[in-house]
Amino acid sequence: YTDTPMQPNGNWHIHDPARPQPRVVTPGGEEAPITPAPADATVLLGNGSDTSAWSMTNGAPATREMKDGVTSSGKGMLRAKAEFADVQLHVEFATSTDVKGDSQGRGNSGVYLMGAFEIQVLDSYQNPTYADGSAASMYGQFPPLVNASRKPGAWQSYDIVFTAPRFTASGELEKPAVATVLHNGVVVHTATAFWGPTQHRRIDPYRPGRVRGPIHLQDHGNPVRFRNIWVRELKGYD
Ligand code: MG
Repeated sequence: YTDTPMQPNGNWHIHDPARPQPRVVTPGGEEAPITPAPADATVLLGNGSDTSAWSMTNGAPATREMKDGVTSSGKGMLRAKAEFADVQLHVEFATSTDVKGDSQGRGNSGVYLMGAFEIQVLDSYQNPTYADGSAASMYGQFPPLVNASRKPGAWQSYDIVFTAPRFTASGELEKPAVATVLHNGVVVHTATAFWGPTQHRRIDPYRPGRVRGPIHLQDHGNPVRFRNIWVRELKGYD
């Protein structure tokens, strides 16, 4: 896209096809291990078939099937019932071994913080797309520093440290939302500020006063599996 607005932080249009592809860094190991939740974590997706931590984004009961701790996209977007502000979030996912489609049409899903800030899920293994829409991108804003994607079908991990935006009493943005992200143990964002909620092809402003929100799992019509999702709410120093 070259008819989209210029990004406020640089020299590129949103989804600019000329923006360089992130350098490929092959992560260690064949698959992400299952990383057990720490004692103070809220487990959103654990073992078994329990989807009680989730609803659909319209509030209806979660209709996604879940078996042995694994759920697949295909039945609509999921929303965690709990709302969070600052978090450490661990997510494991796998795109399909049945490689179909290309660019944004292959393994597309997403992890939304506060229901508004998407860390992109995509099969970015030998699948070029606009850089700011690659796997682990801060969608439409920042490509990952490197492409640490595993092969289709392999389990992968995101470890996300996210701080929610802060607003003054009069509703002015005091501090933007900030993300640090590791993809398969490789740093892909370091304390990078979102310029607003992530959107396709456009720039959205912050919504004053919105300081907590749910985690969403996007359904983009591509089969993507998820397992072992847990979150720790972060508090400040005493
Ligand atoms: Mg997506």
